[in-house]
Amino acid sequence: WSKETVALVTGANKGIGFAIVKQLAKEGLTPILTSRNIQNGQRASDMLREEGLYVMFHQLDVTDPDSISRLADWVKDKFGGIDILINNAGIAYTTSPLSPDSMELAHSILETNYYGAKRVTEAMLPLFRHSSTPGNRIVNVSSMTGQLSVFRDEYWKKQLSSVDNLAEELINSFLQNCLLKIEENLHRKSPGLEVIRADLPCPNSFVYYALSKAVLNAYSRMLARDLSKRTKDQKFYVNCICPGPTCTEMTLNSGHTPEEGADTAVWLALLPASECTTGKFYLKRKERSI
Ligand code: NDP
Repeated sequence: WSKETVALVTGANKGIGFAIVKQLAKEGLTPILTSRNIQNGQRASDMLREEGLYVMFHQLDVTDPDSISRLADWVKDKFGGIDILINNAGIAYTTSPLSPDSMELAHSILETNYYGAKRVTEAMLPLFRHSSTPGNRIVNVSSMTGQLSVFRDEYWKKQLSSVDNLAEELINSFLQNCLLKIEENLHRKSPGLEVIRADLPCPNSFVYYALSKAVLNAYSRMLARDLSKRTKDQKFYVNCICPGPTCTEMTLNSGHTPEEGADTAVWLALLPASECTTGKFYLKRKERSI
């Protein structure tokens, strides 16, 4: 890895994303720190530069297609392409001003955590350099809360667990089915329990978050499968990680340090190609079930 290696990180002005950029910069790569708020992003980049690290900055709101396309144009002009994409930007009820039980919150969480990561990935795919070694890397920062075992309906779990089955339509049907069940039961005390296991007495807002990460995991596995069918000289490794409970604004500052939360994402991004897998889920550098 060298300065020629360009790594784009979303939602990197603070928390785990910031720690990821810092670790990549320490490895001597060219990380692009992106942030939806320009001032916060510039401030974060300046902090790293003051430590002597080399970091580029560009604005990116993953829910805004114009912002994504401005970033893609800039990356193309400035670097000609990228090698590593880390989709880290995310929200939860703790970091959203919307009412915890509202369907508005459900759509907002999905828009950022799932559709945002998907949009950025699709815009960046043509910019990946066509190398077979060390291979292009996409790391999606997901969560153990999106594991299929959290969900209730055996039919959907079976459908989504087989990688051969995965298709955008299937992922979307699962999503719509869950949202409909919650919406129909909003008058009940715990409508989220219509879609997740009954022994997980969690608020709706948790269910929306779990759902957003479950569909992100399914999309990642589908993408890994499809990209592995591409020509031999264009190798992709697409994986999801859970950072583990990490002390950031999202967790209201409980858990291990953001540096520890960033570790598995950075490890996967820089792993020698001979040790790389694709379409997997990792926690603490170990493969886990989806
Ligand atoms: P933070 O709330 O500290 O950081 C989230 C980052 O995402 C911020 O930079 C935020 O920007 C950014 N973001 C939110 N919405 C957008 C958007 N529309 N466009 C671009 N950036 C956006 O959370 P964490 O660092 O804890 O979370 C990082 C990732 O890790 C998330 O995907 C989260 O789901 C995941 N995760 C975290 C865990 C934890 O324990 N902390 C556990 C499991 C998973 P802004 O400052 O402008 O809000």
